[in-house]
Amino acid sequence: MADDLGPDDVVGPPATWDVMLKRGLRKRCPRCGAGRIYRGWFRMRERCPGCGFKFEREPGFFVGAYLINFAITEGLLFVAIMVFVFVKDANRDVSVLPVLAIALTFAVVAPLVAYPFARTIWSAIDLAMTPLELDEIVAARDALGGGDDEAP
Ligand SMILES: [Zn+2]
Repeated sequence: MADDLGPDDVVGPPATWDVMLKRGLRKRCPRCGAGRIYRGWFRMRERCPGCGFKFEREPGFFVGAYLINFAITEGLLFVAIMVFVFVKDANRDVSVLPVLAIALTFAVVAPLVAYPFARTIWSAIDLAMTPLELDEIVAARDALGGGDDEAP
């Protein structure tokens, strides 16, 4: 069945890098832009309800998402500490306690808030770097109940 199909016959040309990344930043499917890909804040659906794209493309796929989440958190901590350094430079009597409280809050809250975005951003980066194979395209279409020439 799949022998006569090409990727563009099934889904059209893939989105560009920037489009996929913008979709990821908005917590949407990087392939089609569909929303509602999470069942809650932390539970991502296995497949996109819009296009059938399987988000976890291989075991351990989301390790990259943890790296993105870590980078976001570290970036916020860096900004907080740099602000403190400049404030402390201007006024030597400033206490370290406020920056500690802010940094602790960032360290706990930021990974929780950024988690779903990190996963969709990582999906977008991966999809942009590694376009779908034909078998993934066919499986996505089959997951939507397609398989004929009908539109999903
Ligand atoms: Zn999709």
